[in-house]
Amino acid sequence: MSRGILWFRQDLRLRDNPALAAASKECDELLCVFIDDPQDQTISQLGAASRVWLHHSLTALQASLRKKGSELYFAQGPSQEVLEELISQSGAQRIYWNRCYDPVTIERDKSIKTALSDLQPRTFNGLLIHEPWENLKSDGSPYRVYTPYWRAAATALGKEPDRLQTLNMPRNIPALSDVAAQALAACVSLEQLELLPCRDWHESMLKDWQVGEDAAQAQVERFLKSAVHGYDEGRNLPAEQGTSRLSPHLHFGEVSPRHILNRLLLERRLSALSESETTFAKEILWREFAYSLLFHFPQTIDEPLDPRFRKFEWAEQTDEHLRRWQRGMTGVPIVDAGMRELYATGWMHNRVRMIVASYLIKNLLIPWQAGEQWFRDKLVDADLASNCMGWQWTAGCGADAAPFFRIFNPVLQGEKFDKQGDYVRRWVPELAEVAKKYVHKPWELDAQTRSGIDYPEPLVDLKQSRERALTSFTAIKGTK
Ligand code: FAD
Repeated sequence: MSRGILWFRQDLRLRDNPALAAASKECDELLCVFIDDPQDQTISQLGAASRVWLHHSLTALQASLRKKGSELYFAQGPSQEVLEELISQSGAQRIYWNRCYDPVTIERDKSIKTALSDLQPRTFNGLLIHEPWENLKSDGSPYRVYTPYWRAAATALGKEPDRLQTLNMPRNIPALSDVAAQALAACVSLEQLELLPCRDWHESMLKDWQVGEDAAQAQVERFLKSAVHGYDEGRNLPAEQGTSRLSPHLHFGEVSPRHILNRLLLERRLSALSESETTFAKEILWREFAYSLLFHFPQTIDEPLDPRFRKFEWAEQTDEHLRRWQRGMTGVPIVDAGMRELYATGWMHNRVRMIVASYLIKNLLIPWQAGEQWFRDKLVDADLASNCMGWQWTAGCGADAAPFFRIFNPVLQGEKFDKQGDYVRRWVPELAEVAKKYVHKPWELDAQTRSGIDYPEPLVDLKQSRERALTSFTAIKGTK
């Protein structure tokens, strides 16, 4: 009789879960566990919004396991200690998990593998199509530019289409015997993990989301049937549902990127996809590029990849400006709309993420790390790899970054991508009655109309602050 442990981490699903598939095949009894580890950068150190999502995702996973006659157990504490206790309490002889790729988790997992070597831990790739060490340049170094990364990944997939083969949900997930289950003194209930905050803001945050594996699968099908066909254009329009909204599902591993590409391709080759479908496939691979950067340049969690930016002169005394940005009270409509969407829903449209990030870094001259931290706390899809890459990309200090001197003009961005002002009116109701001509620049309204609107004046002058940023950049441009 063999008893195993299946350690769920960033893979909260039963379908296409390689660790679960192997464990279900090889063990007669399986202890499925999720550990809330305070040192875990991937999950537990993420912010309040992500922990709310996690609570619901674990609820869904527990229900799915119960349908299969199994159970999901929960524990809290440093993973190694918890696993050692569980092994001694359950008598498990094997252990399985899917790999994570942030630097702290990699080190922790290595040490757990050594400590538990008697159980011959088996680890798998459940999070990515290509692991960070797989898609490299011909000299073995990592890509720093996305286009060649994508080309190499697409070529590899062309040669190896089986990589997109997905695994079915195991027909049978062996349950733990009652005797072994009763010995699990290290386990607590999901509620005892206290993932939900005391205040009830989270209920309205999740009202338009469906959490969990089944919801993720349904969302993939919905998106691939409709919006993907107009994705090239639709993905830039924040007022529309033009993107997949799969990011939190992908972050928590409720669905695998393999499954998404598999369903997108439907037996076709990548080269047979339409332009919009190809653009979407490229976005799925952007996420993998972010994981590659995090793995090969782990310092980029809080340091710029471009060392010149260590000497960048940021503004001083920025607390009030940061607070106004966080609350969506900068006086720049599209920035405020984005920040309020984030606060209310735990998500923000990609185009608007770039606009609000550029405004914080370049117009307010506040270090990108402050924005990255706010996003980390407020996003339901907060992801160390994609978040750090997104912020460094916007700041101009990361891999394949937008050049620093390309400073988004939030008024022009608004007029181009939110032409009618619908997005702004939805999230900034103070401007609901403002005409299209002024909705992205209410400061140009005549004084009388302006005085009847309770909306702040812009925090900074867009033109002057742009000049100030360019001057700061010029100071570091020629340095090393
Ligand atoms: P879609 O457009 O439908 O794309 C499908 C999937 O591709 C996404 O779910 C995501 O997994 C991936 N993807 C798309 N664009 C990107 C991108 N630029 N970088 C990496 N992956 C991408 N994404 C996160 O998942 N977590 C984050 O914490 C995060 N922080 C960001 C911070 C900034 C400053 C910026 C500019 C971008 C950030 N992104 C982050 C990337 C992107 O904004 C989101 O992935 C996207 O908005 C999610 O919406 P969607 O699922 O509808 O995307």
